[in-house]
Amino acid sequence: MRVAFLGLGHMGAPMARNLAAAGHAVVGFDVSAAARESSAAAGLPVVNTAKEAVAAASVVLTMFQTGRQVIDAYEGGLLAAAPAGALFIDCSTISVEDARTAHGLAKAAGHRSLDAPVSGGVVGAENATLAFMVGGSEDDFAAAEPLLSATGRRVVHCGGAGLGQAAKVCNNMILAASQIVVAEAFVLGERLGLSHQALFDVASNASGQCWALTTNCPVPGPVPTSPANRDYQPGFAGALMAKDLGLAADAIAETGVDARVGLLARDLYRAFADGPGAGQDFSGIISMIRSGSDDPGGRG
Ligand code: NAD
Repeated sequence: MRVAFLGLGHMGAPMARNLAAAGHAVVGFDVSAAARESSAAAGLPVVNTAKEAVAAASVVLTMFQTGRQVIDAYEGGLLAAAPAGALFIDCSTISVEDARTAHGLAKAAGHRSLDAPVSGGVVGAENATLAFMVGGSEDDFAAAEPLLSATGRRVVHCGGAGLGQAAKVCNNMILAASQIVVAEAFVLGERLGLSHQALFDVASNASGQCWALTTNCPVPGPVPTSPANRDYQPGFAGALMAKDLGLAADAIAETGVDARVGLLARDLYRAFADGPGAGQDFSGIISMIRSGSDDPGGRG
């Protein structure tokens, strides 16, 4: 398969390299000259225009930041420049609504399409251990699976158009809410005189057990590999969690679901990302909870 890989940023560059290393004919493009240069320096064949990249592609993979960028690129010539019947796979994290719009545009232009957002972060992209959540038809999923497997460890077909993004948004809403409440429990324990280790030993073996506690533990000590042990260097940055919760809030508004905890998590992560948390791991929200607890009346 000849693959055009567009969006050679933090995630896209290592994904494109892994695809090429797995033996696929990959050609890369990014609107940023710096991104093109650094991928070229790493050995990836890179071209200077999107049209050149997709001209002979059977698969067009995009890894941009936003839904707007995906839709603008699709409408701005990408779909028109690709051979008929090309398989468009968008791996960006975007709203369910934008993903469905992108599917509609691709279909109307005579192409096939999948939404395939990932989890696993830059480390997962570099080590080819990403998890892909895929939305689209069975046939298109079957065609894409060998390719996605070259850059990931788990590839799950979640259903029709947009349902990969739906799975990503739902998972990250669970993650955000559980990370917040784990942090609140540690701060509450501190105020009650309970040691971090004692709370960890109990909760990690009891019904409070969850990934936010046992892998991404927000206090240093109990889980030596968690970001709390390295000044909350990400990991998964607070700004990205705030972005994903914004997409969850869009989906909540559209569907009318009574998801008050999810919306509160969005508000808290927005405040965290607007402050020092933008570049910190999202477990660093414990510092905001601690300082809010020092001055409960001063909560924003
Ligand atoms: P990034 O900003 O590093 O990379 C995006 C790249 O897309 C940029 O280099 C940009 O120049 C390029 N781009 C934008 N429009 C383009 C166009 N029309 N044509 C070609 N290139 C274009 O972002 P990232 O960290 O790689 O994240 C990409 C996506 O993956 C985002 O949607 C993000 O939410 C999601 N994601 C990121 C992480 C992470 O840890 N970074 C984890 C999971 C999911």
